Amino acid sequence: MASRAGKPPRDIPLKNLDKVFYPATGFTKGEVIRYYRDVARWILPHLKDRPVTLVRLPDGVAGERFYAKNAPDYAPDWITTCAVARERGGGDIRYIVINHEMILRWCANLAAIELHPFLHRAPALDRPTCVAFDLDPGEGADVLTCIEVAFRIKEVLDSLGLQSFPKVSGSKGLQVYVPLNTPVDYAATKAFARALARLLEERHPRLVVSSMAKASRRGRVLIDWSQNHAAKTTVCVYSLRAKRDAPFVSMPLEWRELARARRAGNKRSLEFGPKEALARLRRRGDLFAPVLTLRQRLPRAFVAAVDRRAEPDLSAYERKRDFRKSSEPPPESAADDASGSEAAAPRFVVQKHAARNLHYDFRLELDGALKSWAVPKGLPYKLHEKRAAFEVEDHPLDYMKFEGTIPKGEYGGGTVMVWDLGTYEVVSGDPRQRSAVLRLHGKKLKGEWRIYRIRREGGKNVWLIEKHERAARPVGRQRDDRSVLTQRSMRRIAEAGAGDESDAAG
Ligand code: MN
Repeated sequence: MASRAGKPPRDIPLKNLDKVFYPATGFTKGEVIRYYRDVARWILPHLKDRPVTLVRLPDGVAGERFYAKNAPDYAPDWITTCAVARERGGGDIRYIVINHEMILRWCANLAAIELHPFLHRAPALDRPTCVAFDLDPGEGADVLTCIEVAFRIKEVLDSLGLQSFPKVSGSKGLQVYVPLNTPVDYAATKAFARALARLLEERHPRLVVSSMAKASRRGRVLIDWSQNHAAKTTVCVYSLRAKRDAPFVSMPLEWRELARARRAGNKRSLEFGPKEALARLRRRGDLFAPVLTLRQRLPRAFVAAVDRRAEPDLSAYERKRDFRKSSEPPPESAADDASGSEAAAPRFVVQKHAARNLHYDFRLELDGALKSWAVPKGLPYKLHEKRAAFEVEDHPLDYMKFEGTIPKGEYGGGTVMVWDLGTYEVVSGDPRQRSAVLRLHGKKLKGEWRIYRIRREGGKNVWLIEKHERAARPVGRQRDDRSVLTQRSMRRIAEAGAGDESDAAG
């Protein structure tokens, strides 16, 4: 809930007004603060009651940037905040809610150049007020390519009787908003945005990509649907951007203005510095006002069909990887491909991984994700022999068939082989808890193993895997170096190179 104790003062002390924030134009911190003062009457309605992430750049765009979620301890008592439970690890994040022009000014004085609100308002944290499509051009594509894609999105939305509103991001791309302002949850808006992105990727494969995973989006535009999530924020309309060395504003446009810019090939007409943005607002008013008021509904049958089972938490997995560099599957692919396999027995995979140290990764399909351990020496064969297994972050289900090379310097850089694949049964215990006996039905591993947690070490759970019931036949040296998916050796996988080997078996 938004909470506030004190009343905002009439004015607040400001600091370092002459500091240059955008070197190319000499635009200063004072000018950033002045811009937010002047744009307050238009931007405040779009920030109202929405928790916000501040992108702070205390040394301007040439310096470091911080994504500030928590209100600082020194925030005065008139700064409105909203406590939101952390996705993981317990506790709350106390987000700032910019409900007053003095709060806006206070944030600007903290060098919060960019303002990124959630798509919902407090306290209804699972009630987005709109659907947002974030269009991000790959190399060789640009904002004009994004316009092309935005019109394809609009066509589909029009056919569903839904009005939509575009804005330039102020960086390289565009965003398309579909106002709802009717009861709906993120499960529905996310599924809707994803379905639309996939549909367009299918229709226009040379223009559209719907997943971060695609090794190359050269010449194409990513329709990022994943912003439609209770934990994601999107840059606010009228926010300044700190992406380039000159200040640009995220500005709404009319569809016909986009069409005109595309026809003329005029990118410049899609860029708005602070002065132009304010002049345009005075002349044209808030073109994004309907995003706050227009009441629309997603197709009823679609909403009814949405799968609302809890999704696995793959945030740690996501945080550690750059999916533009690594061909490992991104987390969003987890939920969809899960659907086909529910009735079937859960699967397991062992991946041989030549990272800094050679090890085997043991993963169990569990609750829509892969519960994972790194086992330096691999699973034991002799009865009662034990091997240490270090619990690592849950991986998406798609990882099961990941084979290839993670680029050097990236997390887990090195070659990955699908060493064994199969199904498993839980004979006793529960692998979510601290101990279980598992029966594996793999191509290499067959039989029972016991897995149990022994201690925490450096914030990580350490387990032992012990051969149970009876000894297993060891896997010979030759088979040990053969993928069960592609029959390749580690060397051949490595030689095939990085970037294109995911799901090699199709
Ligand atoms: Mn590994």
